Amino acid sequence: MRRKKNYYNTHNNYRVRKNRIVLVAIVGICFVIGLIVFLNYNRISMLSKGYSWSETSVVLKTFEKEDEKVILSYDRLDHIVAWVALSDTVEHYSYYQQYYDLIQINSDDDSLDYFDEHVNTVEFIDTLYSSLYPTLEELGYSEDHIWSLIPQSSIEEFEYVVEHAIAYSTVQHYLNVPTFKFSNALAYVEAYEEYNDYNYSVGIVNFPGIISSNNVSDEYVFNDPDNILNLVKKGFYLDSNYEPSDLVKPEIPIADESDDDFMVRKEAADALLLMYEAAKKEDMHILLNSAYRSYDKQAETYTNYENWYGGLYASEYVATPGASEHQTGLGIDLTSQSVLDGERMVFGDTDEYQWVLQNAHLYGFIVRFDEDSSDITGISHEPWHLRYLGVETSKDVYESGLTYEEYCLYNALFPNVSKK
Ligand code: ZN
Repeated sequence: MRRKKNYYNTHNNYRVRKNRIVLVAIVGICFVIGLIVFLNYNRISMLSKGYSWSETSVVLKTFEKEDEKVILSYDRLDHIVAWVALSDTVEHYSYYQQYYDLIQINSDDDSLDYFDEHVNTVEFIDTLYSSLYPTLEELGYSEDHIWSLIPQSSIEEFEYVVEHAIAYSTVQHYLNVPTFKFSNALAYVEAYEEYNDYNYSVGIVNFPGIISSNNVSDEYVFNDPDNILNLVKKGFYLDSNYEPSDLVKPEIPIADESDDDFMVRKEAADALLLMYEAAKKEDMHILLNSAYRSYDKQAETYTNYENWYGGLYASEYVATPGASEHQTGLGIDLTSQSVLDGERMVFGDTDEYQWVLQNAHLYGFIVRFDEDSSDITGISHEPWHLRYLGVETSKDVYESGLTYEEYCLYNALFPNVSKK
C-alpha cells in the first residue's frame, strides 16, 4: 500500500511539475504573441480589413502611426498604393475613394488610363477640399450639395463659383436641371426673367440652337442616337454612320410600291399599322410616302440640289445631312389615296390630314412641322411629316399645344450630345 502510495505521490509531483512547465510555456507564448500583435497592431488591422501584405508594407513604410490610424478609420481603400504615390494628404483618402467610385460610375470615357484617373482624382479632391471648400460653405453649399454636383462639374466650375461668389440660394432651383453648369448660372437667372421656367432657362442658355430663329452656329452630335425622344434638327446631328438596328417595313400601303426601301423602327412600324387601321375604319386612306433615309442618301440629295440650284438654295431648302428626322427611323411622310388619285393636290388639303391632326398622338405620333412654327423648328409647314415619340410623350406634346422644341425645353429633355 505504502509503496503504492509513494508511487502515486511521485507520479503526482511529476504531473504537477509538468503542468507548471506547460502553463509557463503557454503564458510565455501568449506574451510573445501579444507582443507581436501589439507591435504590429496596425498591420494586422489592415490585413483584417482586406489589404494585401504588400499594401500594408507600403503604408507602414510611408506613414507615422497617427496617419496609419486615420487610414484605419476608413473602409478598405482599394487604390491606396496609388493614393500614397500621388499625395500625402491622408485626411482626404476617403474622399479620393468616394470621388473615384463616383466618376467610375458616371464616366464612359475609356480613354483615361488607370494612373491618369488617379491623378485627376487627387488633384480634384485636393483642390476642392484644400482651397475651395471653406468658401463654398460660406456661400451656402452643404457637403451633400457639393457631392451631388461633382459628377457634372469640373473643378473649374467650382472655382468659378468661388471666384464669382455664386450663392447657393441664387442657383438652387437650377442645380438639378440636367446639363446645369455653374459657368452659365448668371445667364440662367437672366433667362428666367424672360421665360419664368427653370428648365427652359437652363436649356435655352446651354442649347440656344434648339430654337432655330436664334441662328446659332453650334453643332452637336448625339451620343445616344437610338433614344426615341431625340430632337434631331439643324445643329443637333446624327452621326454619319448611324442607322437604327431595328428597321422593318411597316405593313401599311406604300405610295410607291416599286420601291421597297420604306423602313421605320419596329416600334414605330407597329404604331403606324394601328393608326392606319383606325383611320381606315373611318374611311380615311393613308399611305406611307417616305420613311428611313440614310445619311448617305441625305448627303446625295444635298449635293444634287447644290449642283442644280447652288449652295444657297440647298442650305435653305434641303436638310443638312444628319439633321433629318428621317435618319432616326422615326420620321415619316404620309400621303392619301385622294392625292394619288388626283382628287386633291396636296396632303395638307385632305380629310386624312385633318384626321391625322386630331388622332396621330393616340398612336404615338405628332405632326412635327405645323403652320406658324417655322421660326422655332426651322422647317416650313410640312403637314405630311410625322414623328414617332411613343404614345405617352406624343399625347403630352399634343395636349401642351407646344412645338416639340418648346416641349423639350419645358420638360428638360435636353439632347445628350458632344460638340461636333
Ligand atoms: Zn419628312
